[in-house]
Amino acid sequence: LHSTQASAQKEDSGFKGHDMLAPFTAGWQTTDVNPLIIERSEGSYVYDIDGRKYLDSLAGLWCTSLGGNESRLVAAAMKQLNTLPFYHSFWNRTTRPSLDLAKDLLEMFTARKMGKVFFVNSGSEANDTQVKLVWYYNNALGRPDKKKFIARSKSYHGSTLISASLTGLPALHQKFDIPAPFVLHTDCPHYWRFHLPGETEEEFSTRLAKNLEDLIIKEGPETIAAFIAEPVMGAGGVIPPPATYFEKIQAVVKKYDILFIADEVICAFGRLGTMFGCDKYNIKPDLVSLAKALSSGYMPIGAVIVSPEISDVIHSQSNKLGSFSHGFTYSGHPVACAVAIETLKIYKERNIVEKVNSISSRFQDGLKAFSDSPIVGEIRGTGLILGTEFVDNKSPNDPFPPEWGVGAYFGAECQKNGMLVRVSGDTIMMSPPFIISPQEVDELISIYGKALKATE
Ligand code: PLP
Repeated sequence: LHSTQASAQKEDSGFKGHDMLAPFTAGWQTTDVNPLIIERSEGSYVYDIDGRKYLDSLAGLWCTSLGGNESRLVAAAMKQLNTLPFYHSFWNRTTRPSLDLAKDLLEMFTARKMGKVFFVNSGSEANDTQVKLVWYYNNALGRPDKKKFIARSKSYHGSTLISASLTGLPALHQKFDIPAPFVLHTDCPHYWRFHLPGETEEEFSTRLAKNLEDLIIKEGPETIAAFIAEPVMGAGGVIPPPATYFEKIQAVVKKYDILFIADEVICAFGRLGTMFGCDKYNIKPDLVSLAKALSSGYMPIGAVIVSPEISDVIHSQSNKLGSFSHGFTYSGHPVACAVAIETLKIYKERNIVEKVNSISSRFQDGLKAFSDSPIVGEIRGTGLILGTEFVDNKSPNDPFPPEWGVGAYFGAECQKNGMLVRVSGDTIMMSPPFIISPQEVDELISIYGKALKATE
């Protein structure tokens, strides 16, 4: 059956490609090349329709934290599907799973006391919701001019109009007439790439905080509503913050009464070796975005956690301002919530943070050992997330000519050797499932090493 499907696929596709207008997929991939069709998953591996096995070094799309066949999540979904496959959470009607999950999340997030949870279906919707919550909040407080958002270059916050505007990657702006005018971007905190000669990490952080403050003053603090940041930048190339960065940034944001939004869509639930990225960098956010590992990627679900100050204002003012008229048919979908509840239960039962910490040095040290390769500029990461940047002469200022396709070649070599990585230009990203075993980490390192040798 597999090979019949595969050959049918190959015949069908050919020049025409397939019938999907695929996300983030360039034309050449859909016209000339057959897509890789993944059919089944097991633990840290996925299998294509020809039965080929790949170590899934990106956990799907940074999300399948519990791997490919966690039967408890399947059982939780089936149980909910058999009880109540759907009911909504509009107009003071809701379901038990959404109430229970909100409670669980508020208990789990301990970086500071939070107030309420708003459910969405994705990280992009979470960040769009952030903007509307903050605007509603400032309107309720009688500060209609405090509406601008500051995000960072190279950040990724999603691909809907507003979340793509917050995103600091040109590919998401070009041809779409965005970012929206209320979004400003400040420096990317990538020390290796952007530090000045002789500048320490601390000095670099001080300079970036000063640049942020200058931007706020130039725009007028009374116009800036919120600052949004991923604790570790993900899709922008896996960029952990330099020393003292969040301490200094938070001081600036606080000084000007600007809300801090932590986009934890990738970092939450153990990825960095702490339950949340906020725990790792001592971030005290006003709002938090979640998705991905919230359900181990098994169901589409996201959430926004809101501080009590904000949720109190929204509640108390909604009689005056009208309801918070925002939400989705599937906000708090009972099946997605049931799967998320079970996911969080498994994280606790299996001490997932400890599990990540117990394996992360094998993963990080094993891969960072390749830092001396002549084509590697930097290998960086923490916990179970890692980025590799290929450059010429070991210098951030000497990128390889894009037409050489160094990153793409490395990615193809990994695939040939049985591993899927994320390639973005000459940056390679990995974020394996939390359940990855020591032997699987060794296999990952061995394939990476082979692919690197072939690329050199
Ligand atoms: N925020 C961050 C930090 C992300 O990494 C992503 C997706 O990768 C998003 C938001 C958008 O999430 P989604 O693709 O579920 O809309």
